Amino acid sequence: MRKPVIAGNWKLFKTKNEALALIEELAPLVSGVSNVEIVVAPVFTVLPTLPAALAGTGISLAAQDVFWEEEGAFTGEVSPRMLLDAGASHVIIGHSERRQYFGETEETVNKKVKAALKGALVPIMCIGETLEAREAGDTFKVLERQLRGGLEGLTATQFAPVIIAYEPVWAIGTGKVASDDQAQEAHAFIRSVVTELFGKPAAEKVRILYGGSVKPENAKGLMSRPDIDGALVGGASLKGSSFASIVRYG
Ligand code: PGA
Repeated sequence: MRKPVIAGNWKLFKTKNEALALIEELAPLVSGVSNVEIVVAPVFTVLPTLPAALAGTGISLAAQDVFWEEEGAFTGEVSPRMLLDAGASHVIIGHSERRQYFGETEETVNKKVKAALKGALVPIMCIGETLEAREAGDTFKVLERQLRGGLEGLTATQFAPVIIAYEPVWAIGTGKVASDDQAQEAHAFIRSVVTELFGKPAAEKVRILYGGSVKPENAKGLMSRPDIDGALVGGASLKGSSFASIVRYG
């Protein structure tokens, strides 16, 4: 009932030409896939280069961040309008690297989610616990705080387009993927919090992606779990062949 989403987070990789080469490799490998939504997220400067290459491929374009004001004296920032103008339809918000290195908080995530929705972009809101929090038994507490904080003030209708990505910080870029059970447990918990916040129909509809060392070898097991509706893929999205294999498991 929920259409899976496989999104590639290219992080700080790929110049314009490298991005075009990757799309050229990827597009034929995923042509004809209609049961999965495919999204790629390059750096800001590459966004305007891709819409022409993506036309007819069914692959959507995401930015990796957004600012909450439409325009003004905000040096270095990019607004929802500008992302739309560059051809993006989705935007990753609150990735743990932004929380860790760039001071992103629940409050800024919330402002960005609201701005993205207002600007007709689909937010992919990332949450996830650190290893320290997991070891202290605080995983659910952290996830609940990030969910409530990031989604504060939204109505069920406003929330409807939001995609959530569960990315345990200890699994990102480390090669240590969460076990299928660990991921399923967290996803079911996330869905239960969404039920509390926005009701059962919203919770049944929301796509919850897993992220953190997803590879072709572990994608199948993860994707077969009932509450895992896709993946946010970092390292393995930088190669067309590995990303396409993950798409096939979506
Ligand atoms: P990874 O990154 O797949 O390289 O672990 C995932 C992410 O940070 O979105």
